[in-house]
Amino acid sequence: MKQLNPCMQTANGAKLTFDAGKFTLRCGITVVRRKHMHKQLNWYDLALFSLLLSSFSFYLYLCSLQSPADETIGRKLRLTREAVNGNFYFRQLLAGRDFCLNPGNIIETQIFNAGAQMQNYVYLVGDAKTREAVVVDPAWDVKGIKAFADAEHINLVGAVATHYHFDHTGGPPPPPFDRLMIKLPGVRQLAVEDNLPIYVNKHDAGTIKTKNEVPAQSIVELDDLSTVMVGSVKLEFIHTPGHTPGSQCIRINRAPAEDILLSGDTLFISRRRSYVSQKNKKRSCGRLDLPDCSVEAMYTSLQKKLASLPDSTRVYPGHNYGGPSTSIANEKKHGFLRPMSEREWLQQHRL
Ligand SMILES: [Zn+2]
Repeated sequence: MKQLNPCMQTANGAKLTFDAGKFTLRCGITVVRRKHMHKQLNWYDLALFSLLLSSFSFYLYLCSLQSPADETIGRKLRLTREAVNGNFYFRQLLAGRDFCLNPGNIIETQIFNAGAQMQNYVYLVGDAKTREAVVVDPAWDVKGIKAFADAEHINLVGAVATHYHFDHTGGPPPPPFDRLMIKLPGVRQLAVEDNLPIYVNKHDAGTIKTKNEVPAQSIVELDDLSTVMVGSVKLEFIHTPGHTPGSQCIRINRAPAEDILLSGDTLFISRRRSYVSQKNKKRSCGRLDLPDCSVEAMYTSLQKKLASLPDSTRVYPGHNYGGPSTSIANEKKHGFLRPMSEREWLQQHRL
């Protein structure tokens, strides 16, 4: 801190004088003694303290307005309103925000941190009136996902895997993390503990049975355009190979302009300017450099299948790589659904 000279002239002619530790400001005929300033400061402090105290009381009052009991009532009202207004139940859960929150031990801490870093989305889709739903891509924290469903009075009646990768189905992580001998919670837990059917495309079913050790009788193998009813809500499965041989998207036909597509790792949200990620690969679709990927199959899945869906379809991807959702129209304008020849696609993705 800059030291003041014992006697210092200020710009407007006021004179600051330090006299044996006693601070006196002389400015023209005004003399303000330190003793008096102390008195003023005490009043000022008191006023400030009162202000802080009243602010804190107001904050406590606001907190009391959102007590857990009120929150529960609010949630119940919301759910009732939802059930009265329509039959569609839909929730997008994000790792680190809605689950992967309260680790019980050091291993769970590591798993939850990794889940939050991977930014996986999990979906609950079903019937708001019957309170039945399937969980899409349950992994990382099945306990937390089930707690979320319980709090919403939702009865899980099945699980869907958009593809076999560990961050969507649980099980052993890929090398080099497999050496840790950790198995992530996932579809196996729901099949074994809750006796739920696991809906997977037939081309990924074998891998999920063996790698995730899901009992064969729990696996329901789906084809392209298979349908599954959850209460009165119909899920339609579109086989979209490319990221894995059995990747599938889930389409829910609703009122015009309200169709939904859960796109897993087949289609992500494009960003107009920079969707260039690691290894300089454009990323508005899942990785195509992993074992089992097919650049050619991905072209057909994106350009022939998904690009032919109605423009207004809202697309919910498997990861939070730039927001919660996009639309087919947006991806046809800015992303990998924009018209391009297979030759151009292959040139862009030559590995
Ligand atoms: Zn994947």
